[in-house]
Amino acid sequence: MENLFEKLGLSQDVLKAIKNMGFVKPSPIQEKAIPEVLGGHDIIGQAQTGTGKTLAFGSAILSKINESHDLPQALIISPTRELAMQINEEIKRIGKYKELTYVCVYGGSEIEKQIKIIKKGVDVVIGTPGRIMDLMRRKVLKLQAVDYVVLDEADEMLKMGFVEDVETILEKTNSHRQTVLFSATMPQGIKKIAKKYMKEDYQHIAIKQKTQTATTVKQYYYEVKEKDRFETLCRLIDVSQVQTGIIFCRTKRSVDEVVELMQKANYSVEAMHGDLNQNHRMNTLRKLKTGAIQFLVATDVAARGIDVENVSHVINYGLPQEVEAYVHRIGRTGRANKKGIAYTIISPRDHSFLKQIEKETHSTIEKGVIPTLTEIKMNKVNRILSQAEDEIFQGHHKKFKSIVNEIDETMLPDFTAALIQLVYHQQTGYAYTKETITTPRKKKKGASEGFVRLFVTAGTMDKVKKGDIIDFFVEKANVNREDIQGIDIKRKFTFVNIRENQIEKVLRNCQKEKIHNRRIEIEVANQK
Ligand code: ADP
Ligand code: MG
Repeated sequence: MENLFEKLGLSQDVLKAIKNMGFVKPSPIQEKAIPEVLGGHDIIGQAQTGTGKTLAFGSAILSKINESHDLPQALIISPTRELAMQINEEIKRIGKYKELTYVCVYGGSEIEKQIKIIKKGVDVVIGTPGRIMDLMRRKVLKLQAVDYVVLDEADEMLKMGFVEDVETILEKTNSHRQTVLFSATMPQGIKKIAKKYMKEDYQHIAIKQKTQTATTVKQYYYEVKEKDRFETLCRLIDVSQVQTGIIFCRTKRSVDEVVELMQKANYSVEAMHGDLNQNHRMNTLRKLKTGAIQFLVATDVAARGIDVENVSHVINYGLPQEVEAYVHRIGRTGRANKKGIAYTIISPRDHSFLKQIEKETHSTIEKGVIPTLTEIKMNKVNRILSQAEDEIFQGHHKKFKSIVNEIDETMLPDFTAALIQLVYHQQTGYAYTKETITTPRKKKKGASEGFVRLFVTAGTMDKVKKGDIIDFFVEKANVNREDIQGIDIKRKFTFVNIRENQIEKVLRNCQKEKIHNRRIEIEVANQK
């Protein structure tokens, strides 16, 4: 088959390496970014995770740099150690047929070793902002010869508070350098950096996904009471064929809590978040990749960009705060067109956010039914039986056959059942007691007698508070405070009850008026 990378202008040795990696077709971001970077332009690349951004910048930059083994020519900055390591591995594969020298620098690892390598002369430096700064301060890392700077996952660096460090680093490099910035999102801070540190004619390459979430991922949600959240998680993973699962929590604390509970229930699981030390995190990632553990419980930041194959399930133990984070989480599964499953456990108040996710990602999140105890039992027993069949098929059981032959034949069914009971017991760590978990009953949201519920198109996103809503109706329509009730502010809109005899006045005077800077629209809400 023709190798479509050949059309992009990459150097022969890099092309050979890409062929070696087994890639024949550039991804859209690679197709657009590689020629630009080769042409010497600064770029901002925006594409979903898992779209091959590392190869996009790596192949172009490695095509251009020389084997000088002196001062660093390329500097790749990444927000986390894991990502830096991952980039390092990929870059080395791309540079397989070039005699370049590399160093990967990050906190929590032996700095002395890194210093030694740098002193011998390196062409490419990959690292986290903190450690790069440290090595600069020690006058070991000299950046004046750097011609290429890559800021990978720039929005993540921004969020983690690395802006100043990144700026300091950029200022120490040669102003003729080429700057390549990758970011999943484009917050103001990124635009500022681009404006300040990139050439005026920089190209913004944005790869729009047809749908933001992979179409190969099936998404389900489960609505539960707070106290049932953990049991729901257990029920879900007990009936699913999880090869590798990543469970997301919002905070480090809740990661630790979930891991502790899961370990107590006998699951093979470890935590991944920023408070854990370097070695631990690397080990955990390796274990997940090799299948030594089945589950990872992580915060959004810790898991960003991490590339683990075979993640069959992503489970949102809690919803993230932003739609984008949801998309990133889900993107951990269903990679390379494999099938993936995403479960999201929500509480009733999360409904509107869930709807928003569906809308923005153009996907549907189906309502799932929490597995019953009977289902869990049947599932596990079936799996035990099919494992037993495998053993028989492979003949592993034969060495015990003579023992079984001594058992009274009439007792064999009881023995078999008892053995199943033992295995089942071992495999089911959570002490289920109830057959089902009930979903919470919906609060009645309608307006009370004599009031009409209105829908207003402004919400927390517009920094609207209860007082603002009251003031708005009082000022614009001369409504009494007592005639305003039941204010329920969501992200993009607000529900409010207004006394029936004031409605006409409100609709006449408030339609298309401004709350803060948002020109709003008002509708009578659906009362059902
Ligand atoms: P991103 O940085 O966009 O999240 P990565 O650079 O981590 O994505 O790449 C994700 C995976 O895709 C890696 O395992 C990488 O080796 C692989 N990959 C990159 N480019 C291609 C390609 N053109 N064809 C197939 N796989 C690719
Ligand atoms: Mg990446």
